[in-house]
Amino acid sequence: MITKIDHIGIAVRSIEEAGKFYEALLGLKIEKTEVVAEQKVKVAFLPVGDCKVELLESTEPDGPVAKYIANKGEGVQHIAFRVENIEAALAALKEAGVRLIDELPRRGAGGAKIAFLHPKETFGTLLELCEREE
Ligand code: ZN
Repeated sequence: MITKIDHIGIAVRSIEEAGKFYEALLGLKIEKTEVVAEQKVKVAFLPVGDCKVELLESTEPDGPVAKYIANKGEGVQHIAFRVENIEAALAALKEAGVRLIDELPRRGAGGAKIAFLHPKETFGTLLELCEREE
């Protein structure tokens, strides 16, 4: 059901500051930046081969990314796996008794359908499932 790693989500205080490092020193390029208001987050995607780094900056002091940084500091926040059919993947996991943060997919950056699994079920890593065209 999983076809590849779609992206790696990295929580940062400032996309502008972190972006300088990724672009000037690592030679990656910010392909696009987008605000996902519902998640109180600004997102920048930097392609790396056929995977992406997703830099996440909170737009509000009480957003999930701000809380993550307050607890754990900046760093890898989640890993997103690409799936072909997110509804089917969620149904299969739910059927198997896996706790889900999102039982139904929601809209993520770039028009993707996304859902998070509960990190208590995934041995500590926040996992996102992601279905998108392309
Ligand atoms: Zn993500």
